[in-house]
Amino acid sequence: MTMATANQERARDRADLEALARSLIDRLAAAFETAVARTAALCARDGKLDGALLDTHQWLCYELALANADLFAARGLLAIGGNVSPLDAGLGLAFAAQAAPALLERLEGIHVAAGLDTAALDAIAGGAELRRLRREAGGPDVLAALGAAVAESSGEIADVRVDEATALARDGFRRFAADVVAPLAEAIHREDLTVPEILLQPLREMGVFGLSIPEAYGGSAPAGGDNTPMMIAVTEALSEASLAAAGSLITRPEILARALLAGGTAAQKADWLPRLAAGEPLCAIAITEPDAGSDVASLKLRGTKTAGGWLLDGAKTWCTFAGKAGVLMVVTRTDPDRSLGHRGLSLLLVEKPSYEGHAFDYRQEGGGRLAGRAIPTLGYRGMHSFDLNFENFFVPDSHVIGEAGGLGKGFYLTMAGMVGGRIQTSGRALGVMKAAMTAAIRYARDRRVFDAPLIDFPLTRIKIATMAARFAACRQLAYAVAREIDLGGGRMEASLVKLLACRSAEMVTREALQIHGGMGYAEESAVSRYFVDARVLSIFEGAEETLALKVVAKTLLEEALKA
Ligand SMILES: Cc1cc2nc3c(=O)[nH]c(=O)nc-3n(C[C@H](O)[C@H](O)[C@H](O)COP(=O)(O)OP(=O)(O)OC[C@H]3O[C@@H](n4cnc5c(N)ncnc54)[C@H](O)[C@@H]3O)c2cc1C
Repeated sequence: MTMATANQERARDRADLEALARSLIDRLAAAFETAVARTAALCARDGKLDGALLDTHQWLCYELALANADLFAARGLLAIGGNVSPLDAGLGLAFAAQAAPALLERLEGIHVAAGLDTAALDAIAGGAELRRLRREAGGPDVLAALGAAVAESSGEIADVRVDEATALARDGFRRFAADVVAPLAEAIHREDLTVPEILLQPLREMGVFGLSIPEAYGGSAPAGGDNTPMMIAVTEALSEASLAAAGSLITRPEILARALLAGGTAAQKADWLPRLAAGEPLCAIAITEPDAGSDVASLKLRGTKTAGGWLLDGAKTWCTFAGKAGVLMVVTRTDPDRSLGHRGLSLLLVEKPSYEGHAFDYRQEGGGRLAGRAIPTLGYRGMHSFDLNFENFFVPDSHVIGEAGGLGKGFYLTMAGMVGGRIQTSGRALGVMKAAMTAAIRYARDRRVFDAPLIDFPLTRIKIATMAARFAACRQLAYAVAREIDLGGGRMEASLVKLLACRSAEMVTREALQIHGGMGYAEESAVSRYFVDARVLSIFEGAEETLALKVVAKTLLEEALKA
């Protein structure tokens, strides 16, 4: 058989398996739709979703959201099909072979709990198709061969199509990340240092802080739109070197810029956006309070009207980069009527000096005070996340986003940045996964056990393939959703990718650490940093449960009720 004939045969086999995987996933999707319809009925009163019933059926909602993320990923990957390299196609199939049985088990649990007939699922479980997919796309020999190919490529997998400008930016930022960020990343993490100016200044010059700010305001987003794939590419490249000291710098201006674009006055946009794009001042976002995080409607930090502005009193917590930042976007309760919930919130811009280090105490001339103290954390070090305390702190009327017209709109303006924040967080997860996978491949090549390099053992290669399949799934999806967002959609999909990518980052960094054995647990191994850094991804930018329940499941159930 000639090489060309062998390649054609392999391609035919792959197309065959892809068709089989698609048909299986379609059958699982049908069972999923049945479960969504049933859960919607369980959670509805008079044809509308009911809060108390949604709480009663939280487990069903949560499981449906996670099932939706897997389903979305498997379908998305299989849709890309033959348009990728043979290695990427193999990884896509390997992901489907992992996702299908996991989905089946999850759906079975949902069906049982919702009192649905499991016959359709039983037929899938007992059928030959699932067994064939598992054997031919996810069997140990297949995975070991894929793992070897991934190691051969040094982790350069999951090629995504991006335009020339994005590819150039990605290459430039990867070089910067390797040459400038990576050598500093370990010290910043282990000594809990503040991200230094030698890193921030070149990033300012490279336009990192203006990625979501339109060109007309000094940023690089195209007029009248966004370039979300570019934002993901830059985030991913920087996060590969350091989640905390590089990749996450983009999140804050992303959220604040979108709030200003959505609700700022013309003068506020003209004043703030060019400065934010230039990274002077740096900014931070203060939403979370000691007594309220996920439940934004319960935020309490009080703004009291005074001549020419507002006096802030109360506490915020977890405000990342609050020390170094020169401006904080503070979600403030400007209407004392607590029954208004999220409609009583506004966004105030608090200007302050920039401080290095872990604590600051800023006093205004009129007697106002803002004190901050960094919370010691497992990882995600460099920007520091602060407890903040405001006392009689004056903010002028001009610093309310939207001025008088912005009062009461704080919740909506914050949400304007959340889709971008979520997809950007997926980009952060991709960078961490990539770093962990590359480190695991390198270590497995260098480390000898039982007289052979660790990579020579099939179990190691299978682990590498499993990590790579997850990474590939998340990467393909993140860019697909990024493109959709730029076309005006992708709202729920951004949450699905965030759920999947952040969970996957935990799994991938766990396996990468495991491959390092004892060295993985040593602070001196970068992989231990990836592991602790990855853990935070499912907590912020929409905690996993909140996203699953309040965004994904709610959207699914609402749509089911409309159908
Ligand atoms: C390192 C780090 C950096 C951060 N940076 C920032 C920042 O810059 N700015 C900022 O404002 N915040 C920031 N946060 C805060 C983060 O956004 C919150 O931690 C997050 O929103 C969750 O809020 P919480 O911690 O109050 O948890 P809670 O809301 O108290 O929730 C606790 C747990 O319960 C789950 N849960 C919530 N509601 C429900 C429900 N109805 N049913 C079942 N389970 C539920 C949550 O998912 C979570 O697992 C940061 C957090 C960390 C750890």
